[in-house]
Amino acid sequence: MLDVSDIGQLLREGGRSFSFEFFPPKDAEGEEVLWRSISELESLHPTFVSVTYGAGGTTRERTVAITRRIAAQTSMLPMAHLTCVGHTTEELGGVVEDLRRAGIHNVLALRGDPPGGPGTPWAPTPGGLEYAADLVAFVRDQGLTVGVAAFPEGHRDAPSLEHDAQVLKAKYDAGAAFAITEMVLRVSDYTGLVGRAASVGANLPIVPGIMPILGLGSMRAMVRLSGREMPTEILDRIRPLEDDPAALRAEGIRIATELCERLLEAGAPGLHFYTLNRSTATREIFAALPVPV
Ligand code: FAD
Repeated sequence: MLDVSDIGQLLREGGRSFSFEFFPPKDAEGEEVLWRSISELESLHPTFVSVTYGAGGTTRERTVAITRRIAAQTSMLPMAHLTCVGHTTEELGGVVEDLRRAGIHNVLALRGDPPGGPGTPWAPTPGGLEYAADLVAFVRDQGLTVGVAAFPEGHRDAPSLEHDAQVLKAKYDAGAAFAITEMVLRVSDYTGLVGRAASVGANLPIVPGIMPILGLGSMRAMVRLSGREMPTEILDRIRPLEDDPAALRAEGIRIATELCERLLEAGAPGLHFYTLNRSTATREIFAALPVPV
């Protein structure tokens, strides 16, 4: 029977999935925006929602508290992200125990970015874990369902796409039940990743991450942080609208909607929306999707 609290099973057997990602806000005003968005998105009945883990392990309490509240006070299935950064294995065990006590059954296990930021050298915390695959095995051992990150154009520090695929295979072998990608910029990047994963035997559902362009500067900065460049076919549509924020936003939503349609046509098992704690853009894309998700 389908276990509706197991995201891996839901992605394999439960039909098309759609999910929303939130981050722990810094202040009371941000909290208000977050909970308003959560309640607005609840009516779309997502398959699950996820809450990120702040850089350097800084949001331990807030990530646990938000996922706990989602589990207790909403109808949605929450997943907590967890990273290796700044934690010994003992501390990681404590966070997993907190999550379990909060009724959380699903964890996205990540290495995290180096404390100096993406692209700077990585050194594991003494007494901690080196790679996401180690955290997958660690969390899996505590009986939780584990998801992992995947990268449509390869992780920024991976020496090759083949190495990147082998890393995903190592996470799968360690017990990962599903993967969610960094924001997808082109359908061919996503299908390329799925092909590479299949060719190395990483047989797990891979859900594409979606983030609409709502401002050119912020999107470009985010894409650069991931070691990539904005595709020219997107820039050609967005650049002429730089002086008209409303038109740029509308075009950004159109581009994201087209991407979602084509990803689903290409066989994606679902869509994972990076909401940035806002609900409007996600709801607009959702309403514009002609295919029932
Ligand atoms: P890994 O799989 O460990 O890979 C990290 C690097 O090490 C890669 O370059 C890989 O090629 C290399 N590598 C892995 N294994 C080996 C090995 N055995 N030998 C040699 N090299 C190896 N960050 C946060 O801080 N908090 C979050 O909540 C968060 N959520 C995310 C959600 C999603 C969906 C995604 C896609 C990313 C998220 N990130 C988050 C960012 C993520 O932590 C970074 O991208 C990080 O740099 C890589 O994490 P990973 O889990 O893929 O690490």
